[in-house]
Amino acid sequence: MGAPTREDVLKSLEAIRHPRTGRSIVELGMVSGVVIKGSNVGFALEIDPGEAELMEPVRRACEEAVRQLPGVTSCTVVLTAERQARPGASASPLAAGPGAPRTPRPQPKPLAPGVRALVAVASGKGGVGKSTTAINLAFGLKRLGLRVGLLDADIYGPSVPRMAGASGRPSSVDGKRLRPIASFGVLCMSMGFLVEEDAPMIWRGPMVQSAIQQMLGDVEWGELDVMVIDLPPGTGDAQLTIAQRVPLTGAVIVSTPQDIALLDAKKAINMFRKVDVPIFGIVENMSYFVCPHCGGRSEIFAYGGARACAERYGVDFLAEIPLDPRIRETSDAGRPIVIADPESPQAQAYQALARSVRDKIAARQGEGARTFPRIVYL
Ligand code: ADP
Repeated sequence: MGAPTREDVLKSLEAIRHPRTGRSIVELGMVSGVVIKGSNVGFALEIDPGEAELMEPVRRACEEAVRQLPGVTSCTVVLTAERQARPGASASPLAAGPGAPRTPRPQPKPLAPGVRALVAVASGKGGVGKSTTAINLAFGLKRLGLRVGLLDADIYGPSVPRMAGASGRPSSVDGKRLRPIASFGVLCMSMGFLVEEDAPMIWRGPMVQSAIQQMLGDVEWGELDVMVIDLPPGTGDAQLTIAQRVPLTGAVIVSTPQDIALLDAKKAINMFRKVDVPIFGIVENMSYFVCPHCGGRSEIFAYGGARACAERYGVDFLAEIPLDPRIRETSDAGRPIVIADPESPQAQAYQALARSVRDKIAARQGEGARTFPRIVYL
């Protein structure tokens, strides 16, 4: 069965009408960024910021209509609004604004009710090794005997398909929900499974949120002890919204030791504090370099900067990970070091991180706080 074309997709949507104006959403030019990857289709519905609640059933109807097309196995539609909701404001991209007609507020429903703990891995900026840390942490937790999921929420540069060795296309259980892809026993989901790596997708705040909510809610995660979420880098609106909306059990912040990187790490600490997410601690990545030839240790960046930053900000220092070619080679080859060489000192550094994170989750759950988080549409 051949892949559908953009025209096929638009044609299947023609009959879907905007609930208020009664006009076709295609005619209104609301469909944008159609991406077709084999039998998987994705696009955005451009809506007014105040209409998210009104348009949610339309979004679902679009997914349903496209899934009926021959050759389509999955369809992901996200809502996007030109103007974003103010960060920190209670107005949510999924809540009707003052101008919107009164529609009954949907009952909050759990998005991933079987997931017991959600741990975000964040960084103040890109390129510090956030994804590498998130992936090795996930496999490290798996090696501790936990049931683990890995959600690649870094939709700007999804790394999980390449770095975690999770490739292929997610199949669908019932034409509605996707099955995650298992890699070395960890269940993975990433936008990278659904769209081309170089697909011209422009992500705006509400769209990011919608994509992540769907990757949580429309995926058969089953029962998991912990889900590791690789957040998009930075501390902008998109990250803040995720930190606000997803009931995180805790956050791990990754930084390299230089002052300039630590400035961004501090922003990440402040962001999580602002929305009351417990900070599990800081990881110093590329902390030091051990020469594979002579065994000599070099502190290429300002070693210890993250530890000092953690102390100053009153958060825990979780681990120091060396700058090591094997870490890069193994993750670039899709077999992270924790899997490729679990007894190596590099893998042991990640394993120590995994133990700390496991203990911190247990401590939080022991306190009764955020136990069995329920992820809800607000
Ligand atoms: P981010 O998610 O912060 O953008 P990545 O995890 O994608 O960063 O890492 C960026 C690059 O640095 C990748 O090529 C990765 O393999 C490499 N890298 C990350 N951590 C280390 C490390 N400790 N030692 C060597 N290379 C690393």
